[in-house]
Amino acid sequence: MQSIAINECPPLAEPTAKIAELSFLERYPELAFYLQKDPALGRKMEAHYRRVEQFCRYHLAPHVLDIDLKLRDDPHYVPHELLKKACDYRLFSMMFPASVGGAGEHVISAFMTYEMIASHCVGVANLLGVSGLALACVLASFDPRAISKVARLIVDNEKKGIPTFLSTCVTEPGAGSDAEDADEFTHAQLRTTAKRVPGGYRLNGNKVFISNGALAALHVVVAYDADGAHRPEDLLLFLVARGSEGLSVPRNEKKMGQKVCPASEVVFEDVFVPDEMVCRTGDKGSYFAYTGIANVLGLTRAGVGAFATGVTENAYRTALQFVRSNDFLGQPMEQQQWVRIELANLARRAQVARATYVSALLAVCAKGLANPITRVPDWGVANWALTQPGIANVRDSLLDSSIAEKLFKRIAATQTTSERDTVTAYGDVAKVSCSELAMENCQRAISLMGKGGFRHENGAEKLLRDVKLLQIYEGTNQVNMLDFVKRRLPRQFSNADTLV
Ligand SMILES: Cc1cc2nc3c(=O)[nH]c(=O)nc-3n(C[C@H](O)[C@H](O)[C@H](O)COP(=O)(O)OP(=O)(O)OC[C@H]3O[C@@H](n4cnc5c(N)ncnc54)[C@H](O)[C@@H]3O)c2cc1C
Repeated sequence: MQSIAINECPPLAEPTAKIAELSFLERYPELAFYLQKDPALGRKMEAHYRRVEQFCRYHLAPHVLDIDLKLRDDPHYVPHELLKKACDYRLFSMMFPASVGGAGEHVISAFMTYEMIASHCVGVANLLGVSGLALACVLASFDPRAISKVARLIVDNEKKGIPTFLSTCVTEPGAGSDAEDADEFTHAQLRTTAKRVPGGYRLNGNKVFISNGALAALHVVVAYDADGAHRPEDLLLFLVARGSEGLSVPRNEKKMGQKVCPASEVVFEDVFVPDEMVCRTGDKGSYFAYTGIANVLGLTRAGVGAFATGVTENAYRTALQFVRSNDFLGQPMEQQQWVRIELANLARRAQVARATYVSALLAVCAKGLANPITRVPDWGVANWALTQPGIANVRDSLLDSSIAEKLFKRIAATQTTSERDTVTAYGDVAKVSCSELAMENCQRAISLMGKGGFRHENGAEKLLRDVKLLQIYEGTNQVNMLDFVKRRLPRQFSNADTLV
């Protein structure tokens, strides 16, 4: 695999620099209201925002089109240098609390990170963010042992400069949208099974279109108990390490967009998974099948909203950059009123998208899966002590204990059905609305640019290839809307359940 040098950065074009100068609260003014009660958190978020801006400006933006060209020729190309930089900026561990060695950033900051990275390359945002989907599945199991295992792997590797990816293995040749829907899940044609054997399980099955399948150090795999009857309580969640015997990744798809994030086939042939790598999803898998999956989707669909907002902004910036250096009928484009109105609408859609995903994100933080993470106390200097070898072992033994498991399950039980439905419905709306706005902006930008929009070096054609995926993964937009009907409308129309 090749890598590219990323340290010599050509000077940035002026418009990119100008747009990046928006301050944190200029970009997210609605957060000022929440942060006035916690100014220290506001300062921390702003500092992180500035760091991510720097990462994008110096290490990502100058290389985006070059990376895309390399991937046209070689779908296995990996931008190693960029990923090493992401380690330096602690983008892999940002969501883990400092007490387990993570960067300890707020969930809101993590979403802003993905939005900003997506505003340069949504493929890179997906490459880095897809581990968040796997992590959300593990979090939704409320199994502290599994959560701390994943945290340790990512944090320890990041310290050594090793980028660490997770993949989420749900989709199979015969199961897609149905496997991304909490209610349809049990009807999905999932064929991957796990057979109980002494000391663990043996996994067999084929997963397809698995983002980062080829790069993942750990696969989070959904499978049914082979001795069960395909009921919710038969659903199991596994952590499968790269290199496990019988695990293979035969190919990466040659896909249309977001090429930098490989989508792979992942095959399990009698893969042994020891008991300590099985997520303890509760007394019955049905907790995970219904509550867990809905919670994951509430979080990750808001995340797709953040990606889409970045793309919406990117389309605006790409068009702006173009009109600043091109004429139309002998006059500079930027001086023409119709062009300015078009640009204003591109910027407006970015603002609408941002407001939509931020509202879903705040719901996830208040009542959804992110809520327990936002409540992890920041113990200041004690964080340092908790990461020292001797004490860290005690910390990890505590997290592995059944007391911690009971505590985590108790936290999970505090969420009501109405809260979960609301959060997930907000996630559905964020995913669908933001991806539609992103699609609209990409099409409008390319139309405004005319033939210039077809040139790879102008960036718009890549945007159009990348954006479509936002309407497909995490359940197609149509399926998201069906979920929204189920979760939202029954509260307003007594016969709404007959709509689905
Ligand atoms: C590049 C890429 C990366 C991906 N990464 C991952 C990953 O990391 N992990 C993972 O597990 N999966 C991943 N996926 C799979 C993705 O989540 C599925 O593609 C998605 O959920 C849609 O499923 P499907 O493709 O099988 O489409 P289908 O479900 O077959 O849908 C086909 C059509 O039928 C419609 N439809 C489906 N069900 C209904 C219904 N009940 N009512 C009305 N209309 C319906 C859909 O809207 C769509 O128009 C990825 C996919 C892609 C393309």
